[in-house]
Amino acid sequence: MIGLVDANNFYVSCERVFDPFLEGKPVGVMSNNDGCIIARSAEMKAMGIPMGIPSFKLESLRKRGEIYLKSSNYELYGDMSARLCQLLRDACPAVSPYSIDEMFIYLEEFSDKQCLTLGEWLRRRIRRHLGLPVCVGLAPTHTLAKLANHLAKTSPHYQGVCLLQAQSATTMALLKQTPVGSVWGIGRRLAERLAVNKIYTAWDLHEADLKQLRKRFSVVLARTALELRGTPCLHMNDLGQPRHRIMTSRSFGQPTGAKEEVHDALRRHAQRSAEKLRQQRSLTRAVMIFLNTNRHRRDQPQYYPHAMIPLPAPSDDTRTILEAVRQGLEQVYRPGYRFMKAGVMLLDLVDAEQHQLSLLSPPPRNRHPHLMATLDDINQRMGQGTISFGMTNADAAWQLRCAHRSKRYTTRWDELMQAGTHPGAIRECALRKQPLT
Ligand SMILES: [Mg+2]
Repeated sequence: MIGLVDANNFYVSCERVFDPFLEGKPVGVMSNNDGCIIARSAEMKAMGIPMGIPSFKLESLRKRGEIYLKSSNYELYGDMSARLCQLLRDACPAVSPYSIDEMFIYLEEFSDKQCLTLGEWLRRRIRRHLGLPVCVGLAPTHTLAKLANHLAKTSPHYQGVCLLQAQSATTMALLKQTPVGSVWGIGRRLAERLAVNKIYTAWDLHEADLKQLRKRFSVVLARTALELRGTPCLHMNDLGQPRHRIMTSRSFGQPTGAKEEVHDALRRHAQRSAEKLRQQRSLTRAVMIFLNTNRHRRDQPQYYPHAMIPLPAPSDDTRTILEAVRQGLEQVYRPGYRFMKAGVMLLDLVDAEQHQLSLLSPPPRNRHPHLMATLDDINQRMGQGTISFGMTNADAAWQLRCAHRSKRYTTRWDELMQAGTHPGAIRECALRKQPLT
């Protein structure tokens, strides 16, 4: 069985861990530079406030105390994500992060009953140790696990943990009511093309002829159909271009502890990720790097760090992404470990064209679309890596506007949570119904 552990409203949940006042209230998290809303609590969704709305339009609601807005605090979210991952690694045989708040766990030798028990236990444990609410979807394949997770989230009946058996009555019923565009890895454009071929639901895809899928669409789509039937055949890197993140990672040929070598690998992944980003015409708001030691070598010290670097403005410029990677490595690199794998993830993607049309967004700094297009063109014609970056600009401006950012409680000594705030201040805040700051 494969499990998908996914945190509910992750950014908002992280904020609530350190400010319980926000529990049960409509809370939104804003993009870098406080531009627009990128995460909403269930209460804010219920008010009909859409994703992506410019923050200034909500200013009067915020001033009246009807909603609460926070600047994004990627350092805090990245650290909470690393803790979530570590907690899973302590309990599961293998873990693979898929995005900042979604992690796959691999439970090969577990019975269904054991999987469910573990899922429930993990849910309680994560809530208790990190304060984060999560849902767990379990199924024989990645694609079904993703659907199981969705069901765990939306149907109270499952109480946060849902196990789907391939070909069971529940699974079939679910596939019939799931639009094909909601299946993992199937974007809007592909869904439109599938509709032309009379494939509207996940069930239609499940039933489709594999040869035809391969011929008319792609091998990956045929594999997705097989996955819906319960045959595992997708790997993490196969999954086309999910809309919200791009990941490039690879295991090293030889484990290494040399910082320069690790940096080289990350640089390569960053350049490849930036290319994929431009191909799908997106900009990224944050860059995450991660390193893994070899978990099978119990005799060696283990270390699985993550670092998350927000960008001053959404960007698709390789140099900006490389600079973020360099900063990330500086934060997490420790000598004395032999690393086996490194990866770069681009997160919180936005549509490049839409973003440029928006007068509200600050213009991406240092953006040289022609330079990047030329680079991509040469590399496409002459082969990957014909032109690549060895040196990056180290003195770029990294200052962000973040008027409502919470403290970085878990990563900065000078921002630690303090106990024993003056009683008068507590009463004052209670009277004004405001959070303690
Ligand atoms: Mg989530």
